[in-house]
Amino acid sequence: MRNEHRGIGMTSQRTRERMIRRLREAGIRNTRVLDVIRHTPRHLFVDEALAHRAYEDTALPIGHGQTISQPYMVARMTEIVLENDDPGKVLEIGTGSGYQAAVLAPLVPQVFSIERIMALHQLARQRYQTMGLHMIRVKCADGSLGWPEHAPFGTILLTAATEDIPQQLLHQLAIGGRLLAPLEQNGAQHLAIITRTAENYAREVREAVSFVPLRRGRA
Ligand code: SAH
Repeated sequence: MRNEHRGIGMTSQRTRERMIRRLREAGIRNTRVLDVIRHTPRHLFVDEALAHRAYEDTALPIGHGQTISQPYMVARMTEIVLENDDPGKVLEIGTGSGYQAAVLAPLVPQVFSIERIMALHQLARQRYQTMGLHMIRVKCADGSLGWPEHAPFGTILLTAATEDIPQQLLHQLAIGGRLLAPLEQNGAQHLAIITRTAENYAREVREAVSFVPLRRGRA
């Protein structure tokens, strides 16, 4: 099969172990997250021409001006999702290559993911079919509107940066649920975590992050 040929060398256990070591050194501690990343074939989420760089800890272009997130960012976001003992149903905004959702899938009850660029959405859907990741539900739409039919979500994860959190997403959070978003302010991005309480929303701002911008409307 073509997918197997193109990975030769790049997918070797040694190359993957090097990436895991690098993630540990960068501060990733959750062994379940590290294990899933070790077993997720990132080279199948990038173009064949870039497959040899798939296990470097860098973001890579996936076309349409978008990128597959840096493995460290994916690991860290996943680790933060799992800080909640009961992350519940997870909604991701910004499917991109599909890699982040594939890493989340074995660790949470259910994953939904929305992408606004049709070509990227279709590629991710195909990858999930090939890999047998049938538990990930994807759709092509403006993710800032959320996915009301499946709300409420225990976790909502934006993998694109925004200056303000879309209201509809806040409304689709379960009580006790958390929304993780790269917040852009004065040209810098920090990870914001918004927790829905019974009466209100609590906001906490964490480390600096780096994501492509969230855009409104269909592509
Ligand atoms: N999570 C991805 C990387 C995301 S890059 C991965 O693992 O590969 C950010 C993605 O968000 C891009 O593909 C971009 O097209 C998408 N995006 C930007 N604005 C969006 C919106 N309003 N709704 C849905 N997707 C959006």
